Amino acid sequence: MTIRTRIAPSPTGDPHVGTAYVALFNMVFARSQGGQFLLRIEDTDQTRSTPESEQAILDALSWLGLDWDEGPNVGGDKGPYRQSERSDIYRKYAEELIEKGYAFRCFCTPQRLDELRATQMQEKQPLGYDGHCENLSEEEIAKRLGNNEPYVVRMKVPREGQCTFNDMLRGEISIDWAQIDMQILLKADGMPTYHLANVVDDHLMQISHVIRGEEWINSAPKHILLYQYFGWDIPVFCHLPLLRNVDKSKLSKRKNPTSILYYQRMGYLPEALLNYLGRMGWSMPDEREKFTLDDMLNEFDIQRVSLGGPVFDVEKLSWLNGMWIREELTDEQLADRLQQWALNRDNLMAFLPFAKQRMETLSDIAPLGSYLVSGMLPISAEDLHSAGMEQDQLLEVLQFSLWRLESIQQWQRDNIFNALKAVADAMDIKMKPFLAPLFIAIAGSSSSISVMDSMALLGADMSRARLRHAIELLGGVGKKKLKKMEKAYQQLG
Ligand code: GLU
Repeated sequence: MTIRTRIAPSPTGDPHVGTAYVALFNMVFARSQGGQFLLRIEDTDQTRSTPESEQAILDALSWLGLDWDEGPNVGGDKGPYRQSERSDIYRKYAEELIEKGYAFRCFCTPQRLDELRATQMQEKQPLGYDGHCENLSEEEIAKRLGNNEPYVVRMKVPREGQCTFNDMLRGEISIDWAQIDMQILLKADGMPTYHLANVVDDHLMQISHVIRGEEWINSAPKHILLYQYFGWDIPVFCHLPLLRNVDKSKLSKRKNPTSILYYQRMGYLPEALLNYLGRMGWSMPDEREKFTLDDMLNEFDIQRVSLGGPVFDVEKLSWLNGMWIREELTDEQLADRLQQWALNRDNLMAFLPFAKQRMETLSDIAPLGSYLVSGMLPISAEDLHSAGMEQDQLLEVLQFSLWRLESIQQWQRDNIFNALKAVADAMDIKMKPFLAPLFIAIAGSSSSISVMDSMALLGADMSRARLRHAIELLGGVGKKKLKKMEKAYQQLG
C-alpha cells in the first residue's frame, strides 16, 4: 500500500501555526516511508472562505519549507484539489446514500429546528436532530419536492450502541452513537458540509492515513459510518494532540499569536519555527532540541508522539531561533536573511513615499522607520496614558479597535480607516483623540506617519499583536471586565 496523507485547511483566516504543525507531521509520516503528501483546500463554507486566505496558507507553508506532491497549485491526477470545484461529485454521492436508504431529505424549517433546540435545552436533553423527517413517505417527499420546498440531506445514525475505532496513537476509542447527531451532509444550497466532502475526497484521493488534530475525534464516528455506507476501505486515523498555551489552555490568539505571518514578520527563521513545531509532542531519539527537517525525516517514528498536550511557548521558540541564528548561519547568510526579510526593496518602496516628506538626511530613516522592523515596541503604560485618556476609556479604545480590526477581510488602509472610524463614531469620540493612543501602541510615538498607513505597512498580525501588547501594558483585561466590555461593544452596533 502506498502511504498517502494530506493537510486539508479551510481558508477562513490567517495561516495558523496549528495547520503547519499538522502538515509537518503528515508530510514527514508519508515521506519517511516513501509515500506522498497532498494539500486539499476545504472551502465548502463559501461565506467564510476567501482566496486571500488560501493564498496566505499556501505561501506560509511554503515559506516554512513544506511542500506537497499534489495540490491546487501543483496539480495531480486526483484533482481538482479545491472542494468548491467538486460540488457535482458530492451531490452524486449524497444521492447514492439517499437511494441506499442511508440518508434522507429533511424539510424542517430553521424555525422548527430552533424550537427543537430550545426545548431540548430547557429539558436538559442532548441536543441534536430528532429524526422528524427520517421516515417520510415517498408521496410526501414527492409532494414537497413538487412544491419546491427547500431541504437538506442528513445521514442516518444508529440510536443505540457504540462506534469503536482504532487511533494510531490512542488505541481503541469508543463513542456512544446516542451522542452523534444526524449530520447534515448536503446543505439547502446543494453544497456539501465538511463531513461529506472530507470523506468522499479522502476516499477518491486514496488517503491511507488521516492525521489531524484531536478536535476531530468526535467526528470520526460519522466519518467511519459514511465509509461503511459507501462500502469503502476506512483509512487509519491518527489524532494529534492540540497545541496549547503556556497555561495549558487550547492555543488561542487571545493569549498567543497564532498566525504564521506574525512569526514571519517577527523575524523567526522558517527552519527554526519548523524545528520548534517538530518538537510539539515529538522528540528525536537522542532528545536533541535543534534538528533539521532532514533529521526529522530520517528519524521519524509517529509512535514517539506523546499525547501530553504540547505547549507552544514563544519564549522557548525565541531561544531556539537564537541558536539557529548563532550556530547555523554564517555572517554572510545572516546578512542575506536580513535583506530578504525586511531590508528589501519592496519594503523600502512601500515606506519611502511617507518617509521622504520628513527626511533631511538619509540617517533620518532609522528613527522614522525603526518601528516598522521592530517586534514589540519598548513603550510603557505611561506612554499610552500620555494620550490623555483615562484608563477605562483607553482600554476600551484599544480593545474595541482590536475587535473591529479582527473582522477586516482585506487588510488595506481604507478598510482599516473605516473600521476605526466606525468605533470612534460609536464611542462618540473625535477621530484625533481617538487615534492618539493607537499611534503610541502601533508606532511608539504620535509623530509618525498616519496610524492607518502604519498598520497597512505592518500587516494585520503585527498590528493586532501590538494592540494586544498595549492592552497588556495597561494591566490587561480580566475575565469579568472582558464580559462587560463585550457587552458594551455589542451595544455599539
Ligand atoms: N478542513 C478541516 C480543518 O480545517 C480538516 C480536518 C481534517 O483534517 O479532517 O481542519
